[in-house]
Amino acid sequence: ETAHKQKLAYLAYNPGFEQDIASRYALLSELRSALSLEQLYLELQPKVRLSDGKLIGFEALARWKHPNGQQIPPYQFISLAETSGLIGRLDQLILQQTCSALHSLKAAGIEVPIAFNVSSPDLIEPRFFNRMLSLIQEANISPNQLELEITETQAVKDYSRVSPHLRKLISLGMGVSIDDFGIGYSSLSHITDLAATTLKIDKSFIDRLGHSRADEQVVEMILRLGECFGFTIIAEGIETEPQRLTLQNRGCLQGQGYLFARPMSLPKAIEWARAQAS
Ligand code: C2E
Ligand code: MG
Ligand code: MG
Ligand code: MG
Repeated sequence: ETAHKQKLAYLAYNPGFEQDIASRYALLSELRSALSLEQLYLELQPKVRLSDGKLIGFEALARWKHPNGQQIPPYQFISLAETSGLIGRLDQLILQQTCSALHSLKAAGIEVPIAFNVSSPDLIEPRFFNRMLSLIQEANISPNQLELEITETQAVKDYSRVSPHLRKLISLGMGVSIDDFGIGYSSLSHITDLAATTLKIDKSFIDRLGHSRADEQVVEMILRLGECFGFTIIAEGIETEPQRLTLQNRGCLQGQGYLFARPMSLPKAIEWARAQAS
C-alpha cells in the first residue's frame, strides 16, 4: 500500500517516468540483440606523453550504432547494460575486439598497450574473470599489452572482492588503472594498498584547472600520492593547451583528451599513429 502510494507520488512528480520505462525496455531488447549480432564496436583514443604528445597507448571505448542509423551514447547503453546483467557480455565483446586490434596495430608496426574498461559486477564473478583470462590467452595476447580500467567508485564499493582479481592481473603483468579517480570514495587506507598501477585523474578536476585553486590542489595531491605510493598518474579529458601546460608544470607526465585526439576507428588510429611517427 505504502509502496503503491509512493509510486503514485513518484509518477505525479515525474510525468516522463512511464515513457522512460517503456523506451528503456525497448532499448534493452535492442541492446540484447546488438550484443548477439556483435553490432557494438570499439573506438581507440590515444594516451600521450604530455611533454611532446607522443603516443604511449590507447583506450578502447565501446560504441553502438543503432540499426536506425543513430549513435547511442555510452552513458545510456553502458548503464543499461550494467543494470540488466548484460555488461559482462559487452565487456567481453570489447575485450575480444581489443585483442584483435592489438594484432592489427602490431602488423602496422605500432606496439603500445590498449586499455579496456570493465565494470565491477564482472570482476567479482570468478566465472567472468576466468573467461577473461582464457580469452586473452586464446587471442595470443600477452597480459602486458593490456590495461584494465575500473572506476574508483566501482573498485572501492566491493574492494575486498575486486582487489584479489586486480592483484592477480598485476602479477601477470597487466596494467590496472583506477578510472575517474578523485570523485569516488577511496579512503587513505585503501590508497596505501590499492591494487592498481595507475590513477586516472577525473576530467572534472582538469576542467576547472585555472579557475579553481582548490581543484589545482586536488590535482597536486593526486600527483603526490603517485610519488608516495608508486602509481603512474594520467590526466583525462585535457581539452586546452593551458590545461596541458599546468599539468606538465605540476609534474604530470601522461594525458588523454580532445586536445591530442578524439576516440577514432582502428584504421584512423593507425593513420594517426603513423603520421605522428614519421
Ligand atoms: P571513461 O572510461 O572515463 O572514458 C573517458 C570518456 O571521456 C569517454 O567517453 C571519452 O570519449 C571521453 N573523453 C575523452 N577525452 C575527452 C575530452 O577531452 N573532452 C570530453 N568532453 N570528453 C572526453 P565515452 O566514450 O562516452 O565513454 C563514457 C564512459 O563509458 C567511459 O568513461 C566508461 O566508463 C564507459 N565505457 C565505455 N566503454 C566501455 C566498455 O567497453 N565497458 C565498460 N564497462 N564501460 C565502458
Ligand atoms: Mg576509461
Ligand atoms: Mg575516466
Ligand atoms: Mg569518465
